[in-house]
Amino acid sequence: MEHISELKQQNNCLIKILLVSLYSNFKRNTMTADNVKVFPSSEGNVWKYVYDFEDAITEAVLYKYGSFMKRTVICCSVQSGCPVGCTFCGTGNKFIRNLTTEEIVSQVDRVIEDVLKQDENMDSMIECYKFQIMFMSMGEPLLNFEEVEKAIKMLNAVYSNAQLLISTVGINKPEAITCLIHLLLLFLYKSNL
Ligand code: SF4
Repeated sequence: MEHISELKQQNNCLIKILLVSLYSNFKRNTMTADNVKVFPSSEGNVWKYVYDFEDAITEAVLYKYGSFMKRTVICCSVQSGCPVGCTFCGTGNKFIRNLTTEEIVSQVDRVIEDVLKQDENMDSMIECYKFQIMFMSMGEPLLNFEEVEKAIKMLNAVYSNAQLLISTVGINKPEAITCLIHLLLLFLYKSNL
């Protein structure tokens, strides 16, 4: 039994190394200064990021509560536009395409760069007391679940302290619900290691 447990831990470690190295690769490949614009709020506690992926535009939002160390919230998009079309939501007017894992993760990564530049007391997001990444800007996560799932695993490997939250209107898609349950079980299993 001890061997099985050791093997599981080694596997988890290898998977984590792989995900972190993929993440570093994404960091090098995606954002340039030209394809992101930042719009700060007049109160200085909210920033809207607009990303131009050439054939698709999307956005993320950064919230600071007191200080970034105290609580940082990043909302990122999973689609460009949204096919669901909720009448109260401007995003639902148009759907361009699903975002790739790389495009989802790079939104978060670009925002974090700014957080660490702004907060001189923090060298990494791991030091943040409450760090939340929410998949709830543009798009419906359960309609792009394969890419969202990969992004969740990668962000969890790099930012183990981040709470990852999915906002959904409740899509009847069994394979996406199954994936959600797998993720939940995976995180429960990890928290018990
Ligand atoms: S699912 Fe979300 S993003 Fe899509 S139209 Fe409805 S509220 Fe907007």
